[in-house]
Amino acid sequence: MTEKSWDEQKFEDIAYNLSAIRENIEKAAQADGRSFSDIDFMAVTKTVDERFINHAIACGVNLIGENKVQEMLRKKPNLHLDGVRKNLIGHLQSNKASQIVGEVDMIESVDSLKIAKEISKQSVKKGIVTKALIEVNIGREESKTGIMPEETEEIVAQIAELPGIHVEGLMTIPPICTENRALCKFFENIYNMYVDIGSKKLDNVDMRILSMGMSGDYETAIRCGSNHVRIGSKIFGPRIY
Ligand SMILES: *Cc1c(COP(=O)(O)O)cnc(C)c1O
Repeated sequence: MTEKSWDEQKFEDIAYNLSAIRENIEKAAQADGRSFSDIDFMAVTKTVDERFINHAIACGVNLIGENKVQEMLRKKPNLHLDGVRKNLIGHLQSNKASQIVGEVDMIESVDSLKIAKEISKQSVKKGIVTKALIEVNIGREESKTGIMPEETEEIVAQIAELPGIHVEGLMTIPPICTENRALCKFFENIYNMYVDIGSKKLDNVDMRILSMGMSGDYETAIRCGSNHVRIGSKIFGPRIY
């Protein structure tokens, strides 16, 4: 028997991990009366080499996420992106907005009115509308970006007034919790905000995406109402920076 190369093993692992995660997503969705097709499954590709990202795409991934503008733009020409959406999920600095607007399908990490205004301005310049999720700091953690829960509705309403940007939902990264109960509480809090803001039927706001759940907590997130999970290390293995 010939030994598998490191790459071959990695390709095999990625295919295996993807199908295992799909099964878990299906189960978690069913527990909440939904199905796999109700959940948008993103592969988070930060630090991952293009050949592995392309392999994941060949295995059916149709949504990828990157944290950094530069990394996204550097990899993009090497990716097989036919039919694949690509979203920015990391903090965006104002001076990088002009580079990323028009290059991604959605910016999930709109974490201030200031950055929303900049995205709006650059989008108008390019004659496009940029889809956006509002990032909420659901645990009110100093170490995290995101809008405070109590300010979210007001800021969503203000962003809704801007041209060139369309709010499509909320995104969050909860605090690290040792107990599942505490984690659920954070997920439920943002789910309630998502439903609440959606019920206001604001013009130019379409509350249809609740982006929460990563490698360690995507099943819990789905059971608490997430319809969009962002999974990296469970697909590609630990990140090497
Ligand atoms: C890195 C990252 C993820 C994925 O994290 P994993 O724990 O590796 O699944 C999801 N969302 C954001 C915003 C990230 O930066």
